Amino acid sequence: MTSTIQTLPTEVVYLITAGEVIDSFAAVVRELIENSLDAGATRVVISIWPQLWKVRVADNGWGMNLDDLQQAATAHSTSKIHSGDDLWKITSLGFRGEALHSLATLAELEILSRPMGGNEGWQVVYNQDGEILEKRVIAIAPGTVVTVNNLFANYPARRQGLPNSNQQMKTVQTVIQNIALCHPHVTFQILQNDKQWFTICPAASVGKLIPQILNQIKPGDLKELELEIPEQKSKINLVIGLPDRCHRHKPDWIKIAINGRIIKSPELEQTIFAAFHKTLPRDRYPVCLLHLSISPDQINWNRNPSKTEIYLNQIEYWQEKITESINQAIRISEANLKESIHTSRVGNLLKVAESKASYNFNNNQKNQSYLKAVAQVSNMYIVAEHPGGIWLVEQHIAHERVLYEKISDNWEIVTIESPIILYQLSSKQVEQLQRINLDIEPFGEKLWAVRSIPLMLQTREDIAEALLELSLGGDLQTAQVAVACRSAIKNGTPMNLSEMQQLLNDWQNTKNPRTCPHGRPIYLSLEESSLSKFFRRHWVVGKSHGI
Ligand code: ADP
Ligand code: MG
Repeated sequence: MTSTIQTLPTEVVYLITAGEVIDSFAAVVRELIENSLDAGATRVVISIWPQLWKVRVADNGWGMNLDDLQQAATAHSTSKIHSGDDLWKITSLGFRGEALHSLATLAELEILSRPMGGNEGWQVVYNQDGEILEKRVIAIAPGTVVTVNNLFANYPARRQGLPNSNQQMKTVQTVIQNIALCHPHVTFQILQNDKQWFTICPAASVGKLIPQILNQIKPGDLKELELEIPEQKSKINLVIGLPDRCHRHKPDWIKIAINGRIIKSPELEQTIFAAFHKTLPRDRYPVCLLHLSISPDQINWNRNPSKTEIYLNQIEYWQEKITESINQAIRISEANLKESIHTSRVGNLLKVAESKASYNFNNNQKNQSYLKAVAQVSNMYIVAEHPGGIWLVEQHIAHERVLYEKISDNWEIVTIESPIILYQLSSKQVEQLQRINLDIEPFGEKLWAVRSIPLMLQTREDIAEALLELSLGGDLQTAQVAVACRSAIKNGTPMNLSEMQQLLNDWQNTKNPRTCPHGRPIYLSLEESSLSKFFRRHWVVGKSHGI
């Protein structure tokens, strides 16, 4: 399948945001790889020679015939759109018809190509206007090899404006990884100065690809979810790092892609951060890759020449869907039960346990309990049994999670009959209690009377201590966490089976059951598959006993 490259009509050219796309090594790499992917390539080899300002991208895509090669590098020439209407039907990564033309202007451009099914290949060298300078028939396999040499040689100011070559190569690497994350079925092989640099192998899904890129991550640390939205002819693919298993010290792994390209979207990023709120330790950030596949008429790619920003219709709708998907992924559900049964190295018992993804409950049967309380250990852990193994649940933080969600869902301040008297508060503490809407007034020298308190604290004996704790600062949410923590069953408290069962039931129905509001993991799972491996249950013991 070859496509016919045409020059865009002037009125369409006017519709396209003007701007220079080729401003860096990374931009060259991005544009060339995107062309390869648009040509249906499944294998892309990228070679970079930073000191020579040279890049070569070779692909096994559907290639170009001589007519196409003649057009490819002239201004505004593209096979991907033909009219202004097509701007709303973009399914390719490119559409502006500018990259090759810019490259002819800014560097020495040579293309080798042979169309799929065609029996001759051509090597073409372009002049600065993108016209053919030299051409000859060559023997190559179907596909395309684009070489860009001496980039910006005639534009010294551009070279000077760029960071050092190490940094540029880092950006190049990120660009390639980001593209790979959106095209997990494609092989990328990257060489630097003729030496193997890195390779990204195809994977059945993006979740399976991520460990190649983030090597601290194990497959069981991630949860992958696909949500079809038929009424919008759309799809959400989500991969999250389970908050009890991985997070980052920088917000550098929130990635948002739309229709095959990673983009910047502060609005959607905020939505993701909010969905992970109070599931991670302080100053830690989630791992999340969100890929929206949306009908092209909902997107205007024309906001910025590098297409890293877009206009998305109905952004609130998508924000809501994204929140729903993340909640669903964090929830404990049956969906990844099967994923959890995969092999892994067996070391000590803990390692076995940790390497496993968790057992999951069935979302649809929310109120049915899959966990059966069987015992309490050290007045601290609940041993819970389920069809796939056992869990150790820390009672205090499981209860803290239950209470926190209850409190934040219906934070209620109630008036109490006899006020609680507090002693020696600083004015800051008083202000803090007022900020979270408690009624507080002076009650004599160095004394204050609190006449309303959070409902959750009403039945507690240590209300005064709790109020003092609340007076020490933080926003409402921090106060809610503090109340939950204080009200939760303490470790060291004996519990009977029915109390433990009640807690397990409440906990498994929380929105974020994996971590407490401070981000600590709540349970340790010992999957039956791991246990059986640990105890070498696959050994044929009978034989060795001569039975
Ligand atoms: P755009 O990608 O916006 O169409 P480009 O200047 O990047 O513009 O490419 C111009 C045209 O050259 C493309 O529309 C495509 O038809 C053709 N082309 C570029 N690179 C390749 C490739 N690797 N394989 C096949 N065709 C290609
Ligand atoms: Mg292009």
